[in-house]
Amino acid sequence: RVYYLSLEYYMGRSLCNTMLNLGIQGACDEALYQLGLDIEELEDIEEDAGLGNGGLGRLAACFLDSMATLGLAAYGYGIRYEYGIFAQRLKNGEQVEDPDDWLRYGNPWEKARPEFMLPVNFYGRVENTEKGAKWVDTQIVFAMPYDSPIPGFRNNVVNTMRLWSAKSPVSFNLKFFNDGDYIQAVCDRNLAENISRVLYPNDNFFEGKELRLKQEYFMVAATLQDIVRRFKSSKFGSRDPVRTSFDRFPEKVAIQLNDTHPALAIPELMRILIDVEGLTWDKAWEVSCKTCAYTNHTVLPEALERWPVHLLERILPRHLQIVYEVNARHLDEVRKKFPGDIDRLRRMSLVEEEGEKRINMAHLAIVGSHAVNGVARIHSEILKADIFKDFYEMSPEKFQNKTNGITPRRWLALCNPGLADAIADRIGETWLTHLEELKKLAAFVNDRGFKRTIHTVKQENKMKLASLIQKEYGISINPSSMYDIQVKRIHEYKRQLLNILHIITMYNRIKQNPSAPFVPRTVMIGGKAAPGYFMAKQIIRLICAVGNIVNNDPVVGDKLKVVFLENYRVTLAEKIIPAADLSQQISTAGTEASGTGNMKFMLNGALTCGTLDGANIEMKEEMGAENIFIFGMTVDEVEELKRKGYNAWDYYNKIPELKQCIDQISSGFFNPQNPDQFKDIANILLNHDRFFLLADYEDYIRCQERVSDMYTNTEEWIKMAIMNIATSGKFSSDRTICEYAREIWGVEPSWEKLPAPHEPKEEEASTPEQPKKEKKETKKPEKKK
Ligand SMILES: *Cc1c(COP(=O)(O)O)cnc(C)c1O
Repeated sequence: RVYYLSLEYYMGRSLCNTMLNLGIQGACDEALYQLGLDIEELEDIEEDAGLGNGGLGRLAACFLDSMATLGLAAYGYGIRYEYGIFAQRLKNGEQVEDPDDWLRYGNPWEKARPEFMLPVNFYGRVENTEKGAKWVDTQIVFAMPYDSPIPGFRNNVVNTMRLWSAKSPVSFNLKFFNDGDYIQAVCDRNLAENISRVLYPNDNFFEGKELRLKQEYFMVAATLQDIVRRFKSSKFGSRDPVRTSFDRFPEKVAIQLNDTHPALAIPELMRILIDVEGLTWDKAWEVSCKTCAYTNHTVLPEALERWPVHLLERILPRHLQIVYEVNARHLDEVRKKFPGDIDRLRRMSLVEEEGEKRINMAHLAIVGSHAVNGVARIHSEILKADIFKDFYEMSPEKFQNKTNGITPRRWLALCNPGLADAIADRIGETWLTHLEELKKLAAFVNDRGFKRTIHTVKQENKMKLASLIQKEYGISINPSSMYDIQVKRIHEYKRQLLNILHIITMYNRIKQNPSAPFVPRTVMIGGKAAPGYFMAKQIIRLICAVGNIVNNDPVVGDKLKVVFLENYRVTLAEKIIPAADLSQQISTAGTEASGTGNMKFMLNGALTCGTLDGANIEMKEEMGAENIFIFGMTVDEVEELKRKGYNAWDYYNKIPELKQCIDQISSGFFNPQNPDQFKDIANILLNHDRFFLLADYEDYIRCQERVSDMYTNTEEWIKMAIMNIATSGKFSSDRTICEYAREIWGVEPSWEKLPAPHEPKEEEASTPEQPKKEKKETKKPEKKK
């Protein structure tokens, strides 16, 4: 059994995905039509399950889909947050956050399993007896499991996602019951249940809060009890009724840690094996290492989890003891391999002694795992060469790469049925489970009919998004303009500010010479800022302020529009991505571990303007340099610049158009009512920029000129779009999961169970003459009953 442990699952909606995977979309559509109802209206009622921040949480959701589709005996374990990622609203051009009360009307996909409720311990102290250490005087919180079905794609497999909800024990604080403070005692039960109340809204940022540590341990402790219970009740664990043999545990159980968020699984498994099951340290350590594997998701220092020792000491005293013992033995090994290298010992310690004493969770995860992987080739290389170099030199055999992927069911079949049909018309439907089949489309790159269809589908998707934007934001956009889109969490390393510099440059050029030819663009930017991330919120303010000036300038007219797409989330991604002409993936080389948004756009026939960062590098390799717009420094060039010393003023003084942009930002040109508002942004760009925006500006602008030129050549643009789609096969999460299965978990995926390329027979029989395309047309006149 494979256990995927993640603090985040960014699932989005389930109705359409369930119907698609079960192959009952046509039947349900028809049934609702006969009732005089519109299935799309029904679909629109469902709340997103937004239990994630961004890429990491969405990856977990894509992996669940692929693991079920590949017939793996896999479970997703996580937390059933009562409030998911906040809803973003713009008020006077600023982000405001509304709580995501997604369970308000109930959740029809989940089933509570009170019979599997488990206790989780916190606080207390360690008692040393002759029979070993005991964790005593703890406070208990119960973990109530809720199961949701994860259907595979038409293979009769349904896996389980089990999310834990915190529940106060009956006895919690009821010692006051007879003291007269009965009411207070009942009210205090909330305290324990706060553990699963809300998702922390940080993306790529570590906030060392006590409640977050409790969430991480709560998930891990409940999950490991469940895993051990299931193993013991299997024939492999239960031969001896007195004492379970854990010899075959690593062979039967694989635990994948989605980042270090669930890394306490390592000391917790050690605690169970030693304190509860009575194994020796050495045996427990062998079992634990062979069972666990760790995926790293970022190299940004501010994102790495380093828990203060004083927090662990208070909340998880036994685990801290175990971590210290792991560290002592680990450092012995380092000493053996590198005698006399004192500085290496300091660097590799799990315990950081500089300043406040902390536990480095990535170091713990590496030492306690048999496999460590990055999420794109360049990222995995950086792990070995840079942040985990010492650990790579210690255990090179642990380090692997698993380039991320996305599920083609949700990110093509579900969100872009027009394109899916156009593809199916030419190459059938095997691509749904064998995405490399898309390469057959390359044969149609000069087929006039196919090119026209691809163009028409894109145009229809663009019209649909235009009416959505008109309806939701009251902005009218020109559907024949280029849709230039950057949607992702707002973060300095993702460089939305570089995008803004391009927008301002285009604006200044139009104003400079209004009659010069200009390729019309609608630039759309969307994404949430972490509520406590000041600069990210400033970036949103600036986008809105620039949009206000640009969109209301009569000289600009229809040439340039700037739209901030409010409340970007899975459901909005499904509407935006199929309508994109251009995808912006412009992070500083070396900072975006992989990116998965980039893959969604490629699969939907948008061209990419991007840096050689993350999976962009492998995308370029698949499609060929002629089908992507690459600009900017490489990882090596960034390193070189860091060595030489970066001086933003050099670029500011050398490039007049850039100077003009920065001066406009800092002088209040875009916000005359509050002219000082964006001074801090200009100050960061010129004096404290960790992400070297100005160094990439000139090449970025030139690259965008090539994009505009190419867009005027519709024929060539469509060919490039087709080549993007045709070469996106590598980026299926099915491929990624096959690699995890074979190279980390030691299990073989079952492709043979995968479906023949048509819908199930029952459905074909029930709706014999209802091909998909006609349905949409026939039901329209019947709408609105
Ligand atoms: C795919 C996805 C992401 C990740 O996007 P990146 O561009 O890779 O950061 C974030 N949010 C949502 C809603 C997504 O669907």
